[in-house]
Parts: sequence; C-alpha cells; structure tokens
Amino acid sequence: MALTPKIRIEDILNRVEQYRPDLDEDLLRHAYVFAANRHQGQVRRSGEAYFVHPLTVAWILAQMELDEVAIAAGLLHDILEDTETTEVELEAQFGNQVSRLVVALTKISVYESSYTTREETDAENFRRLLLASIDDVRVILIKLADRLHNMRTLNFLRRERQVAIAQETLEIYAPISNRLGIGSIKGELEDLCFRYLHPHAAERLEREIKERAAAAKRWFSRIQDELVQLIEEHDIQGTIVGRVKHHYSVYRKLKAQGIDVSNVFDFLAFRIIVSTVADCYSSLGLIHQLWSPVPGRIKDYIAMPKPNAYQSLHTSVIGPEGHPFEIQIRTEAMHKIAEFGIAAHWSYKEGDAAQAEQDSRVTWLRSLLDNSSGSSPREFLDSLKVDLYPDEVYAFTPKGDVFSFPAGAALLDFAYRIHTEVGHTCVGGRINGRWVPLKTPLKNGDIVEISTSPQQAPHHDWLTLVGTNKARSKIRAYLKKEEKVRAVEVGRKLFEREIRRRGVGLKRVLGTDEMKATLVAHGLAKEEDLFAGVGFGRLSAQAIATQVVPDDDSEGKSATLEDGWVAAPKSPKDDGGGLEVTGDPDFLVYVAQCCTPVRGEDIVGFVTRGKGVAVHARSCPNVKNLLYHPEREIPVTWSRGRGSGGGHGSQVDLDMVFREDPAMLTSISQAISGEGSGIVSCHLQTEQAEERGSVSITLMVEDADHLRRIIDRLSSLKGMQEVERRTGRGQSSRTAASRG
Ligand code: MN
Repeated sequence: MALTPKIRIEDILNRVEQYRPDLDEDLLRHAYVFAANRHQGQVRRSGEAYFVHPLTVAWILAQMELDEVAIAAGLLHDILEDTETTEVELEAQFGNQVSRLVVALTKISVYESSYTTREETDAENFRRLLLASIDDVRVILIKLADRLHNMRTLNFLRRERQVAIAQETLEIYAPISNRLGIGSIKGELEDLCFRYLHPHAAERLEREIKERAAAAKRWFSRIQDELVQLIEEHDIQGTIVGRVKHHYSVYRKLKAQGIDVSNVFDFLAFRIIVSTVADCYSSLGLIHQLWSPVPGRIKDYIAMPKPNAYQSLHTSVIGPEGHPFEIQIRTEAMHKIAEFGIAAHWSYKEGDAAQAEQDSRVTWLRSLLDNSSGSSPREFLDSLKVDLYPDEVYAFTPKGDVFSFPAGAALLDFAYRIHTEVGHTCVGGRINGRWVPLKTPLKNGDIVEISTSPQQAPHHDWLTLVGTNKARSKIRAYLKKEEKVRAVEVGRKLFEREIRRRGVGLKRVLGTDEMKATLVAHGLAKEEDLFAGVGFGRLSAQAIATQVVPDDDSEGKSATLEDGWVAAPKSPKDDGGGLEVTGDPDFLVYVAQCCTPVRGEDIVGFVTRGKGVAVHARSCPNVKNLLYHPEREIPVTWSRGRGSGGGHGSQVDLDMVFREDPAMLTSISQAISGEGSGIVSCHLQTEQAEERGSVSITLMVEDADHLRRIIDRLSSLKGMQEVERRTGRGQSSRTAASRG
C-alpha cells in the first residue's frame, strides 16, 4: 500500500471498477464533491488541504477492495466532527448505510479527542470502536485506514503526541489488524510506530540495510534466478517475489536472537505465489532438494491455519554462501487473505463460503465484548492484550477438530470451549489417553477428551485454574447467579420474619405502594433486588420492614393467621441436623464448623452472605467477633421430634489423656456403649517413657445432656487424667476438669 502523492477521484473510481464492475459511481462522485466542499479552506498540520486526508483514506479502502458504501463513508468520515454538516443532512444526501458508518466513526473520534488520562482512553476508546463495529465490520476497516494515514503523516505533530499516538497504535490498532488478518496494514503500522518509538534503532537498522544493499542484491538475484528456473522446470505456474521484510519484525527478531544485521541477509525473504495447494507442497519439496532446510523452521499454516485465517507454508533454508533465508509459499487466494484478512472475506461476501469464516471473526469480536462487560478499562486492556498476542497453543478433539488457546490454558478451558455446559460439569478428562485433572495445562498437539458428570458444578477456585478470559467469565457468571439465588432466598426470609413481627404476611405487602416507594428510595427496580440486598447484607431487613409496614399498622393483627404462614409445613433442611430458624422451618441452616454445637447447647444463628444461616454455640469464640453485626443475628432452635431415640445425633470428637494401662481402651469403649452411644472412629497413642496414653475418639451423641453424661462417666474412670471436647480448627473447649 504505497503512499500515493496526489490522488484523484478518477484513480479511486478506476480501482473500484476493477473489482466491482457495476459500481455506483454517482454515490462516490457525490460524496467526493460534497466532502471537498465542506472541508474547503481547512488545512492539515502538514500544510496540505484537509481533504487530502479523507481522500487518501478512501484510496486505502479501495485497495482493500471494499464496496462503495465503505469508500463513500471514508470520504465523509470527518465531516460530522469537523464541519457544520448534520447527521440528518448526511442521511438525506447519502442514505442510511453511509450515515450510520460515519456516525459510528465520529463517536470513536470524539471520544479520542476528549480524553483525560491516556490509559483510560486506550481501553475505553477501543471498546467503543468494537461496540460500533459489531453490526458492521466496515467501521473498523475505515478506522484502520484513517489511523494508517494519520500515522503516515505523524511527523507534523509534536514529539509528545507522536509517541502517544504511536504507542496507542502499536498496542491497539496493529494487534487488531493482525487479529483481523490484515497483514498489509499491520506491517506498515508497526514499521511507522517503530520509527517514532525507537528512532535510533530504526535509523541504525535502515542504515545497515542500505550498506548491505549492493552485496545483498547480487546474492538476492542469484536465488531469484534459481527459484524461477526451479519452478519452470517442473511446470509450476507461479510468481516469485523477493522483498525486504518489515523493519520492525527484523528488529524484533535480531533483538530476540541477540545478533547483528551485518552477519546475515535476514532482512530479505522470498514469497512464491502459485495457483494450487498441490503446487505449494511440491514447490516446498523442490526447494528442500535444492537447499537444506533449517530444522524446526518448517511451518504448515495451510493444514493448520492461524486463528486469523492466515495460510501459507513457511520454511528457512541455508542458501548460497551459507546464509539462511526465509521462503513463504501460498496460493493467490491465500495471499489475498494474508494481505487483507477480514476485508478480503468481506468484499466477497455475496453468496460465498467465506461468509462463515467472516462470521466467526465477528463472533470473536463479540466475545471480547461479552467478557469485558463490567470490568474496568485497565482490566479490559489487559484481557485484550492476553487475547490478542499470538502465544497460542493448539489442541485437538478426538475427532481431530483443532482449537487454539492462549498459552497457559488448561483442560477446563478446553471443556468451556466445547460448550458452556460441558465446562460447568467437567470433572476431568484424558490428554493423549491419560487421565488428568481439570487444571492440567494444554500443550501443542494434545488430544483432549473431556469427562463430565451431572453432579459437577463450578467452584470458586475454578477461577484460578483456567487460563482464558472466556472460561473465567463463564465461571464467574455461574457463581454470581447461584449466589444471587441464595441471597434472594435468604433475604426474602429475613424480610418476611421482620414484617411478621408486625403481624403482616409477605403476600400482603408485595406490590403495595409502600413497597414501590421503598424500591424507589433504594434505587431498585424489582422486589427481588431488594431481597438480594438484604440477603447480601447490604440492606437491613428491619429498616426495610419499617418502611414497608409502618409501625401503627401492626397492632391487633394475628401473626399466625396470615396468608401462607400456617400453611408452610415444609420439612426442615437436613443440613442443619435438626436445627431450624425459630418459627421458620424452611430456612437454609447449617452447623458452623468452628464449634459444631450439639442438641441442647445454647446456640445462636447468623445470616451469612448468601450461604444461609450458620449456627454457632453461644460459647464459640467466633460469636463474639460476629456480634459486631447484631442485625445479622437470628434466633435458632432445635426442631421438635428429632434427636432423642431417633438415632439422628451429632458427631463429637473427644480427646483423652490417661495413665498407661492396657485395659484402658476397653474401659473407655464400655463406658461409651453403657451410655447408649457408639464410637465412629478411634485413634490411640501411647507414650511409654512418660507412662501416659492418649486417645482421640469420634462418637455420636443425642444432645448436650447426653454428652455431659458420657464425659462425666469417662472422667470418673480410674487412671483418666483429662477428657476434652475438640472443636473444629483446633479450638478446644475444656468441658471436663482434669482429675488424678
Ligand atoms: Mn480522519
């Protein structure tokens, strides 16, 4: 895409006519005249007439072989921002399609110039760019052409602005063009950025290449001749293009290898363009017979295209005088896609199979957006960088379908790539036939088979197992939804309890004016959101109840006869082991693991964030810490009809220390069974030197009284020194005094 000094509308029309014989010439002429008039008198910083800029943008678009609508929008892209023209006028003159494109581009551009901090602009601006382009890829293509011309004329700006714009281009626009497969724009953008971001290195490289020019030329034409002869001898139709590689890519490569340009002709490369795929492979074979290939440098992107649809064969061979050089081999069609990427697909979209591939790219853009919702601009930019950079891993399904992942992706990412539901229920899988866990990293060429189970569901720690943003956001969405469901449930219960204290049932207040006013006062849309707020602990159930049911309303009403209240005989949840929130049997209740209270102990409940009600022993040290949130406390009781004789007791751990005695274990087990309890597990330890033994026993107890009787009986055994109840997380409550 060479810089054309003086472009005329006739040049553009001629170029478009080559690929669109039935073009709408009037549209382009009209846009040209209109834009030229409106920009009349405006001057660019370079001193040129402003109109040169949109005209060049249109020319770049014509070289990408876009349609008249896109080119007209290119001619008009700055007209809303920089002239008095209005959107209404634009639409009246050029129709809805052109004006929509220009409006989208103007939005991007207005945002660009109203930035405050650089960092936020980059991400936010790009997000808008994507948003705008989702229903039309042409917006991105025009924006890229716009940026390309601005980069070509960057030398007229202040140094500070040059660096900022070049930085943004290298971080955002060059990767976009790469991801969309537009190699021609990507290469030129990078070279231009290189010049502004590393001026000394760029100058030096240019000088070195120039100095080597004469020697290189001789060597170069010798290879060229041999290549031409080679393919002619074997009746292969093709053209051979020798070229100086993009400076920025030479720079990166030399830097990575720590070598100097003067050692090699590495800045030179050849491209062979043939007519069929078969010719690609035969040419590769012929070349390898002529010159030895460098091991590990042969890449078959025809069999395995890059994610941006790029296809070619690459090889490096040891050429004359022992200098290695690169050759790319591809067909005409592959070449077009390599240069123009998504634009090439776009221009052939009518009734073409390429349509599907274009769609997959639009899907990619859309998925970037989905992942970005709700994250800060910085996070978005980071995720973008992760997704855009080409450290990719390829893995296969057993059927041979290939998926690409960023490096660091795990088995679980693969599962999520197949389908969200497969990810959610993934329990592990096989890589190359061997069973592996979820977190196993993927390597190139792995064959992956996923196993699922309907019992499986995402956990919080899955967020740390996956390597792709896509999988992470799916897990996060699942967890958020689950949490909210529980919070709504808990919040509704808490609220219901509060209003019932005032003698009103839930159904009586739903949808009332007081409820609506309360929602408005808290900026909420739905009652469900209000309950979620209570369930998450952001809102106080008591305060809300006061608003919804003013106090003077509460007198003289019967609590027990309210709607739905008596008729809710749902069985208590088993998780609580016979525990329930006082007067509210279908509340989600569980026993706190720090103190594991038993029936009959003094207990207290705390509403947790989205997990239901945790029941602690009143004596639990954690209770004191929890009490600074007294509004989360809720009375709990042991439900009736359970426990005594029902065999549904609680597990308790006891630690005992005694004087060494071989018969002790028998005495202990007799004492426990004598109290009607059973041992679940037992761990005995004797220390002969100290003549002491110790045992840890897990047993079942009915309630606190039962436990006390057992402990008393054990404590009274001859030789017993200490009996202690052990509670979770190492906190012991000493329930028995030491004896003897
Ligand atoms: Mn512009």
